[in-house]
Amino acid sequence: MTTVAELPAFGPDPTPEDAPFWEAAAEDRLVLPRCRGCATFIWYPRSFCPQCHSPKGVEWVPASGRGTVYSFTVSHRGMGPYSEHAPYVVAYVELEEGPRVLTNIVGADLDTLGIGDPVTIVFQPAGQSKVPRFGPA
Ligand SMILES: [Zn+2]
Repeated sequence: MTTVAELPAFGPDPTPEDAPFWEAAAEDRLVLPRCRGCATFIWYPRSFCPQCHSPKGVEWVPASGRGTVYSFTVSHRGMGPYSEHAPYVVAYVELEEGPRVLTNIVGADLDTLGIGDPVTIVFQPAGQSKVPRFGPA
């Protein structure tokens, strides 16, 4: 069984459009932007809805932190600070709310990890904030 418990992370450089995300992450909370017009969850964060361009804008709402592995790869070679942590997983996780996010899977058995596996969010230190990653549910 091969697992990676933790990976390097770098502090975010928030913009006005993603600052609420990082403020929540620092408190171990996942929030997602949602359109006030059509209720579509939006990823990546931006100030308008790409579906309907509603003038009502976007609001930030709590998310479950649950999802499933949509796709993944195991990297056996990392660069820089990642070189000490290979093999590690780079994955797209499909959140329960709909968006797919590019992330890392930590704490999973790399020999049995599969598409469709349920995962749940974990927050790992990243500068003054934390970075959300996912582990086995
Ligand atoms: Zn919309």
